[in-house]
Amino acid sequence: MNHLETICIQSGWKPEKGEPRVLPIYQSTTFKYDNSEQMAKLFDLEAEGYFYTRLQNPTNDAVARKICELEGGVAAMLTSSGQAANFYAVLNICTEGDHIVSSAPIYGGTSNLFTVTMKKMGIEVTLVDPDAPADEIAKAFQPNTKALFAETISNPSLVVLDIEKFADLAHSHGVPLIIDNTFATPINCRPFEFGADIVTHSTTKYMDGHAMTVGGCIVDSGNFDWMAHGDKFPGLTTPDDSYHGIVYAERFGKMAYIQKATAQLMRDLGSIQSPQNAFLLNVGLETLHLRVPRHCENAQKVAEYLEAHPQVAWVNYPGLKSSKYYDLAQKYMPRGTCGVIAFGLKGGRDFSIRFMDELKLACIVTHVADARTCVLHPASHTHRQLNDEQLRTAGVQPDLIRLSVGIENVEDIIADIEQAIDAAEK
Ligand SMILES: *Cc1c(COP(=O)(O)O)cnc(C)c1O
Repeated sequence: MNHLETICIQSGWKPEKGEPRVLPIYQSTTFKYDNSEQMAKLFDLEAEGYFYTRLQNPTNDAVARKICELEGGVAAMLTSSGQAANFYAVLNICTEGDHIVSSAPIYGGTSNLFTVTMKKMGIEVTLVDPDAPADEIAKAFQPNTKALFAETISNPSLVVLDIEKFADLAHSHGVPLIIDNTFATPINCRPFEFGADIVTHSTTKYMDGHAMTVGGCIVDSGNFDWMAHGDKFPGLTTPDDSYHGIVYAERFGKMAYIQKATAQLMRDLGSIQSPQNAFLLNVGLETLHLRVPRHCENAQKVAEYLEAHPQVAWVNYPGLKSSKYYDLAQKYMPRGTCGVIAFGLKGGRDFSIRFMDELKLACIVTHVADARTCVLHPASHTHRQLNDEQLRTAGVQPDLIRLSVGIENVEDIIADIEQAIDAAEK
């Protein structure tokens, strides 16, 4: 069983004789054992089993397994949000005094996490232009660099990443490439096939797809050889005193990264997804393979409509031939990119705001990538803490409107845009 469609439906929960056909919600904090010895082995990481939902829960594990299979990884964990996923993905291999290199055009929340909060923790970041030549980007690496980070398709600027270029850069500096694959989803792109080592997701977006649950996921390809770079990653290659001297990379091999993230970060920081949310996420995942192509098909038509409209100043959609990223998109995601379009209207910021207020079918919401068409002005909303210069570094033009095209009938979506532009002109 290896087609994505079948994994979406069938993977994760594998009931035994007499067990529920549908993934149950294990709404239980604890799990029972017969004697103290059995429990002690679990605490020593010597036996596998459930004991406390902060560390592991059967509902969550089934959903993590499904996402793991979709990405073609070896191990995965759910987190309470996409923010937690990116935070843990980096913190699992970085500590005070370390440094990461990150693509500059990334989600506003991640940019804040790296440049403000992690900086306060003593982890520095250098932001790079992902379109720059490799030898230019290479200058950002330092002896204490521990990871390279980027998004497959950046939110909201829709920069398509040259994943192979980034993988080569990471590996030639002895560090893993971490890719946030939220916008492309494994339906359109599986970054491990192009050399990425770790993939993260905000499952809040297309994976849930119905704007019901905030969540995240980290998937490990198992391909990065921590032992080969032992001096850089002592957390994985030297004994963990908080776990009886376990050396994660020795004990768990390809599973080491996720085991460590669970045993240390979940244990101490506790950003778990609730089993109830994991259940809802799983329902979303069962139709991911149907929804994503429809999002892309609708977005393609809307982008072509916008491009031909006299009131539209510019359109950025990687599926358009006019896009700077068209060739990269064809290479890395030939089936489609995502349902999100960035565009600017003639008439600037005021006109854009009038336009958004006139939309009827598309709602203004701080969200993206779900079944309902929605719209946002990043400079006024998600990125409002950034000044114009910082906005441009993050790849966000001050007049950029982010339109997240849903899976309604595309003619209705276009009619709504048309009437809103007309009304804003009056
Ligand atoms: C939304 C988003 C995040 C943050 O995820 P939350 O689930 O909102 O915490 C991270 N990365 C990308 C690309 C996103 O779109």
